[in-house]
Amino acid sequence: MRIDVVSIFPDYFAPLQLSLVGKAIEKGIVESHVHDLRRWTHDRHNTVDDTPYGGGAGMVMKPEPWGEALDTVEAAAPGPMTVIVPTPAGRPFTQTIAYELAAKPRLVFACGRYEGIDQRVLDHSHDTYDTHELSLGDYVLNGGEVAALAIIEAVVRLLPGVIGNPDSLREESHSQDNDALLEYPNYTKPPQWRGRAVPEVLLGGNHAVIAAWRRDEALRRTLARRPDLIVDPE
Ligand code: SAM
Repeated sequence: MRIDVVSIFPDYFAPLQLSLVGKAIEKGIVESHVHDLRRWTHDRHNTVDDTPYGGGAGMVMKPEPWGEALDTVEAAAPGPMTVIVPTPAGRPFTQTIAYELAAKPRLVFACGRYEGIDQRVLDHSHDTYDTHELSLGDYVLNGGEVAALAIIEAVVRLLPGVIGNPDSLREESHSQDNDALLEYPNYTKPPQWRGRAVPEVLLGGNHAVIAAWRRDEALRRTLARRPDLIVDPE
């Protein structure tokens, strides 16, 4: 998979070199290219924003640098590209969308700042490319960089060869194999810690009983914390 990121803060993406995503890049599973949007400005001050038509607070990202950025990134490699625009006004990003994006050959992240990107860039992108406006949650960040990093990490860990034991993807929270429930609680050694014991059932070695206990715990947790995840059969 090829990942391109366009941002006015390319240094934000240094963490891509770390941990599992960094290893995926080292192994050649992922190729990443981070671009400074200001490269596509043509004035002395490298201006990327301007005042909003209609008035109001804040600045809006100008369309011209974004248009050139998308054209250049598209021409840089073959194959259809999927453009991801992080925005609090987008569809909520979910594990299901992470799986869909993990099947794409090329992802391009357009990281907005200020009040966001001129709407015509988004309209052009929807008309020209497979484009997804995605929100990390119902709150507002200063820019799309943190959201892009989160989406990249969620997607890259699903690519074959990135996680050592693929079973861990099946058993975790939001996995379809786990009926999209939250994961059961996890414990490791020692069996006693500060007066707290590991649940007896996990020490017994009876796999069927352990599986049933974990299923109950996953259901209990999901009902308590995220009842919206439990589909009503009605
Ligand atoms: N004016 C925009 C609005 O009210 O919808 C908010 C702009 S926000 C200050 C600047 C940038 O941060 C956005 O263009 C987007 O790239 C990013 N951003 C902020 N919150 C986000 C969220 N919840 N999910 C994804 N991206 C977000």
